[in-house]
Amino acid sequence: MTSQIDAIRTAILEGAPAEDIANLPIPESTRAAVILAEEQEMFAGMASEEKDPRQSVHIQDVALPEIAPDEAVIAVMATSINFNTVWTSIFEPVSTFGFLKRLGKESAWGARHDQPFHVMGSDASGVVLRVGSAVRNWKPGDRVTVHCNHVDDQDPTSHEDSMLSSNQRIWGFETNFGGLADLSIVKANQLMPKPEHLTWEESAVNALCNSTSYRMIVSKNGAGMTQGQSVLIWGATGGIGAYATQYVLNGGGIPVGVVSSPERAALLNEMGCEAVIDRRAEDYKFWKDDNTQDQKEWLRLGKKIRSLVGRDVDIVFEHPGRQTMGASVFVAKRGGTIITCAATSGFMIEYDNRYLWMNLKTLKGCHFANYREAYEANRLVCEGKIHPTLSRVLTLEQTAEAALMVHRNEVEGKVGVLALAPAEGLGVTNPEMRERLLPQITLYRRFNA
Ligand code: NAP
Repeated sequence: MTSQIDAIRTAILEGAPAEDIANLPIPESTRAAVILAEEQEMFAGMASEEKDPRQSVHIQDVALPEIAPDEAVIAVMATSINFNTVWTSIFEPVSTFGFLKRLGKESAWGARHDQPFHVMGSDASGVVLRVGSAVRNWKPGDRVTVHCNHVDDQDPTSHEDSMLSSNQRIWGFETNFGGLADLSIVKANQLMPKPEHLTWEESAVNALCNSTSYRMIVSKNGAGMTQGQSVLIWGATGGIGAYATQYVLNGGGIPVGVVSSPERAALLNEMGCEAVIDRRAEDYKFWKDDNTQDQKEWLRLGKKIRSLVGRDVDIVFEHPGRQTMGASVFVAKRGGTIITCAATSGFMIEYDNRYLWMNLKTLKGCHFANYREAYEANRLVCEGKIHPTLSRVLTLEQTAEAALMVHRNEVEGKVGVLALAPAEGLGVTNPEMRERLLPQITLYRRFNA
């Protein structure tokens, strides 16, 4: 089995022709980062910040099931940590084994996902090794990235916007056999071309966060930002925030980036974001205690924004949730939009509804992206208009440590994880384009050097 995976790695690194890749034997099992059903109660009663992925994440071999006709097996060269890796590994807000059980009851193919282990991971770059009989647009040897929208296209509700599909799932979070492995199973409609000018690890970190921010900022399904609009971006150098900052700048908007250190503020400036708020230095305390918000602090944030950009923001890019939502609803302009995709600091939200209705604001939910949106977001990366925000690179064996860093808010941008790629820096097929864009591509990596 080791020799089979070595043969796959060698063929990819040596640029073997597609026919050779198609004929490589596929191992029956794969190395993977998993959590175990038998341990899902291990953190019961503990505070979120005390839960340590190093106790729950294991690297082990798991059996690979047969692929369905609309699926592909990919060799994962690199993958990434997302915040959903943190949620999965600390069993919050719920254990993901419930998702796998539900999927298991849906169909015979769904039953493959209901296992005593869960292979995590919702990003990957790699090479297609096998495709099912119904796959038309992809073939063995194709170099790909993977987006995480897992949709059953036989469901009529998936055909206006697949994110509205009643059985929409996030691959590697609500399904098994995710990207934190040497081999992974994906639906063919998750595949997208790998950017030629990027390394495997740079290519692997974009799809989840970049597509989410594209839908939130650019798409008509999100805030649909237009030129000259101002956008308050919480966590503006974080996983989704760093892509949101790029979209606002690219689209002729004015980002107001919130971060929590002078170093992150400097990084934002280097990205071209001039209006920056260091929330730690300003010491905002939106909650006086667990039950009472401080409207004076909302006012203080609003004044700070006006001092920076001269007016209230058109859009708030919201995801911290409980800690910030009251302020976010307050500071959006009359008629403005608060677009939210998460609640890292708590999902039971409180805001003053008078500011929402009297000022005709919109609070809009948003979640990942449909295939078209993810493909557009990936095209912008392929064309060098949006850049990866890779800041650190670890190995698959270090998945738990990498998840802990994200859990503790120690990371700017994204953490890449090497799976079959033996080292950083491999996989580039357009070195001229890379050379031209090198300062932007490596900005976050240099920041952490
Ligand atoms: P991340 O890389 O950890 O970045 C989040 C940023 O938020 C941090 O850099 C931090 O920036 C800021 N932040 C954290 N706690 C905060 C607080 N209490 N108040 C204000 N700012 C705070 O995570 P991410 O990948 O960007 O994901 C953020 C959230 O979105 C997670 O909950 C994730 O699960 C969710 N998400 C949802 C979707 C979806 O499709 N629905 C997709 C991607 C992510 P500073 O400390 O510098 O301010």
